Amino acid sequence: MKEKYDFQEVEKKWQGRWAAENLYVVPDFSDRPKYYCLEMFPYPSGKLHMGHVRNYSIGDVVARFKTMEGYHVLHPMGWDAFGLPAENAAIKHGGIHPADWTGDNIDNMREQLKQLGISYDWNREVATCHPEYYRWTQWLFLQLFHQGLAYKKQAAVNWCTDCATVLANEQVKDGSCERCGAPVEKRELAQWFFKITDYAERLLKDIDLLGGWPDKVKIMQEHWIGRSEGTEIDFKVVGHDEVITVFTTRPDTIFGVTYMVLAPEHPLVEKLVAGTGREAEIKEFVRNVSNMSEIDRTSNEIEKIGLPTGAYCINPVNGEKVPVLIGNYVLLEYGTGCVMGVAAHDQRDFEFAKKYDFPIRVVIQPPGEDLDPAAMEGAYEEEGVLVNSEQFDGMPNTEAIKAITEYLEQKGWGRFRVNFRLRDWLISRQRYWGAPIPIVYCERCGTVPVPESELPVLLPREVEFRPTGQSPLAECPEFVNTVCPACGGPAKRETDTMDTFMCSSWYYFRYTSPRETAGPWDKAKVDRWLPVDQYIGGVEHAILHLLYSRFFTKVLYDLKLVSVQEPFTNLLTQGMVLKDGTKMSKSKGNVISPEDIVARYGADTARLFILFAAPPERDLEWSDQGVEGCYRFLNRVWRLVAPLADKIKSAADDAPRAKQVGANREMLRVTHGTIKKVTDDIGARFNFNTAVSAIMELVNALYQYKELPETDRDQGVLREAIDALLLLLAPFAPHITEEIWEATGHTGSIHSQPWPVYDELAIKEEEITIVVQTNGKVRERLLVPAGLSADALREKVLGEPRVQQLIEGKKLVKVIPVPDKLVNIVIK
Ligand SMILES: [Zn+2]
Ligand SMILES: [Zn+2]
Repeated sequence: MKEKYDFQEVEKKWQGRWAAENLYVVPDFSDRPKYYCLEMFPYPSGKLHMGHVRNYSIGDVVARFKTMEGYHVLHPMGWDAFGLPAENAAIKHGGIHPADWTGDNIDNMREQLKQLGISYDWNREVATCHPEYYRWTQWLFLQLFHQGLAYKKQAAVNWCTDCATVLANEQVKDGSCERCGAPVEKRELAQWFFKITDYAERLLKDIDLLGGWPDKVKIMQEHWIGRSEGTEIDFKVVGHDEVITVFTTRPDTIFGVTYMVLAPEHPLVEKLVAGTGREAEIKEFVRNVSNMSEIDRTSNEIEKIGLPTGAYCINPVNGEKVPVLIGNYVLLEYGTGCVMGVAAHDQRDFEFAKKYDFPIRVVIQPPGEDLDPAAMEGAYEEEGVLVNSEQFDGMPNTEAIKAITEYLEQKGWGRFRVNFRLRDWLISRQRYWGAPIPIVYCERCGTVPVPESELPVLLPREVEFRPTGQSPLAECPEFVNTVCPACGGPAKRETDTMDTFMCSSWYYFRYTSPRETAGPWDKAKVDRWLPVDQYIGGVEHAILHLLYSRFFTKVLYDLKLVSVQEPFTNLLTQGMVLKDGTKMSKSKGNVISPEDIVARYGADTARLFILFAAPPERDLEWSDQGVEGCYRFLNRVWRLVAPLADKIKSAADDAPRAKQVGANREMLRVTHGTIKKVTDDIGARFNFNTAVSAIMELVNALYQYKELPETDRDQGVLREAIDALLLLLAPFAPHITEEIWEATGHTGSIHSQPWPVYDELAIKEEEITIVVQTNGKVRERLLVPAGLSADALREKVLGEPRVQQLIEGKKLVKVIPVPDKLVNIVIK
């Protein structure tokens, strides 16, 4: 073994050898239990950032640990390769084709990942922009289309002015584009949707199956799906053939309705105001409100503004005529896009009624009270007993919810209804760099799916990328003009491409059979590997990718294409990498490049620092001293073993543990205690940081042990301790441990070795009896752990109550500890 740790030489050597020996190539099947470890695949932006390094280092420790534990581990990597940045780069730099830009970036990033020594099976690499992949993305679209789960409709959709494309609801954050931050407008467009709402109930219910997911992610999904139970009630419009259907969770207040408010975008509005002469005024109002963000419109602070339509509707339960308004605080997307105004029992309605002078009618009285509408200062929203409600008077309102709903159902005026906040997933995008939607429009046959045998519908290469608000593909006649697969007549292709979240909703199935050509995957292989046992990625995907993947898996389960109902058994959302307390970003100038760190200290140091600096789910503060510290630690490990390597090589295979006493026994105890702690920390809790500290303590103990005279230490004990150290450190620092493993006489990769097992007996502290003297006279005999140092022994003995009694009230002159034998206390 060389005297000095040369990380460049070591890392290059082993990366080459691992590749040549296919160390990380995983067979499809094995008798061992399977373990699928997956990190969210990256967008190939060109270079890895520290967040990536963190994500993949965590995954790599898990994959290597599970492999050593005896599992058959799948650990693949690929590229979420379609998407806007490639197209924007093409527009900006002119001349670089998105396909070339993406391909170059993938090559760079793959090289960087290899330099980090991550244990990926590169034979399974996929890129979603390759025709052999997106052929199956299109095939899956067709399966959904045939199930009635993919449909096109005209709708008011979210339009990002900067990205020049529509967005899904999930991609709009606080009224802005989740990707670029630009404001989002509403546009009326015909778009393709996936009917994720058909799965709302199951997506919600099966959150119960996600025991291995963080609570915060489950709560976010639950909230996004937003289930509520209530009653739909029909109000006939006076003088029209129309019905206003309202969804309410408070049918018990139906007798208290004094007005009705529609969302300004409600489809009835135009009909109701037609011919009233107020069309222009209403149109202006609708336009203004539509441009407000959803957050603003539903905020409590915003002023609630209403405008009468001039129309009236009839409350079915009492036949009363109530005015119909439009209001800025009512959203078309919630419920049925209207609310019944019950001023006495809803605070928002109360404020609105006060402002516009609508009657306030009490229909629920609090126990033992008599509310006076004129004196009320706010709505009464608590429980009570019904009044002014005809045959329901005197009934507790909690019972009336059910009773009134049943009454409405009997009369045909309403019905029980479960409502969801979740809306269908808008998947078409007006951009070039995505998978074309495999649909053809024929004048005679209408909307015709492309036959599966004609897939993939290839993206044409020569296209003008400048965004115009419609897909660049629309300006490519060779792409657009085609033949109808049904009648052979002239037809036009759909020119929108698919949301890249579609590509990433199924990639984890593809890894199981990445080169399959007869289908998107081989069923036996998918059944072998799915579900993913451990998924690791950023919490920013809590709704988007993770919800879409769950939806996709359920659809595929129903189609009998997969056998699991949930794709990811356990989820770890890692924290961010911060510098000076904020997220690393170019604009803040606080970016640390992984390339620089690897060049300066090596991949093992970079990985070790990232895993040691914080528990995985917490944010990690970058620290140059921390990196230096990890580098020094690896050097310390090297210098510990280098002079001993030859001796260890020739040491006996196993140290006779039971016979060891004194320092040898203590060294064994520390070794096995460390094995136990590191195994628990990684296996049970992913506490990589505390696992690394335990390994560091083992190294300290080994340095002390090494200093003992050679006659006092056992070569077998030393070898056992160093072997354990290397094996425990291997998942964190795979190169240096592999090098030392070889140098200390082992054959076969350290990464294929079984994980060390601790010996319960070795952990138990050995105890011996020592003598306590005062002024040379034997006073006590005490049982203490064997092998205590002089200082530890002194402290231990002075802390004993019986010894404290001996010296109470005396002056302590001197304490003379003799390890493992006696302590003499000189007192006056
Ligand atoms: Zn945008
Ligand atoms: Zn046709």
